[in-house]
Amino acid sequence: MSPKPFASSADLAEKEATLEPLADGVYAYTAQGDPNVGAIVADDAILAIEARATPLMAQRWIDVLRAEVGPLPFGDLVLTHYHAVRTLGASAFDARRIVAHAGTAALIEERGMEDWASEQGRMPRLFTGAETIPGLTRPTVTFDESMTLDLGNRSIELRWLGRGHTSGDLVVWLPDERICFAGDLVEAQAAPYMGDSYPEEWSTGTLDAVAALGAEHLVGGRGSVVHEPAVATAIEDTRAFVRTTIESTREVRDGGGGLREAFELAHERLAPRYAGFPIFEHTMPFNVQRTWDELAGIEEPRIWTAERDREVWDALTD
Ligand SMILES: [Zn+2]
Repeated sequence: MSPKPFASSADLAEKEATLEPLADGVYAYTAQGDPNVGAIVADDAILAIEARATPLMAQRWIDVLRAEVGPLPFGDLVLTHYHAVRTLGASAFDARRIVAHAGTAALIEERGMEDWASEQGRMPRLFTGAETIPGLTRPTVTFDESMTLDLGNRSIELRWLGRGHTSGDLVVWLPDERICFAGDLVEAQAAPYMGDSYPEEWSTGTLDAVAALGAEHLVGGRGSVVHEPAVATAIEDTRAFVRTTIESTREVRDGGGGLREAFELAHERLAPRYAGFPIFEHTMPFNVQRTWDELAGIEEPRIWTAERDREVWDALTD
């Protein structure tokens, strides 16, 4: 068998991006499985959700948004979690504040540089214009449980619902419109990345809390915007993906097997439903490694470096 191309390194075809209005002044910008972003237009400023991987990539999105909503400045830039593809384009917004969960700020300090190298190695296309990144993005405002933002024309909530895709994921919740920007806690027709996750907690209490919001429209981390009843499907797809990875890995561990067998069993069980989803092959080695670690009692995800990415990839996929 010839080796699989590393992660998403061979995925070089530009995706087609779509600006989708979800309510008056509320937009999602999705791109066929690439990381999603969003915006909410207030009276005197725009709130941006996610920053993309580089200022150049961010500017492409800003240009599309400005053509639609005009020249308002950016007030708050909200980051759903610490991953480089969500954060490193922040300087392009020139936002008044950068808002994130406290756990996200801590992870950026602790492992932001390593994550940057890891993500750029795994997803080079998303880092077009990497030379425009001025350095790590540091949140200027953080919270622990929830934060309400008064935008003048509406108020929105930022909620931390438990550990999941990372320890610091927030969701952006618009209670009146029942719109949820879920970050990578929920993927709609895209494969979850579990390398920095807490699989057990994510697939139980945290996704229960997301479901309990009762969103009618949901923007996941990747994939199309979904509307009920597809919101429930996206949440349950994400949950089933993580649960199957846990159960497969546990079964192999309990039977005395190794990481590679766990990878093969999880892959075999997930492929029928998920193999066609973007980044399925990319994520699986990292998903199983992190699940293996959690089952082994390693509570905090180990830091991924570009080198460790390659080691795990090579051990599981050749
Ligand atoms: Zn992520």
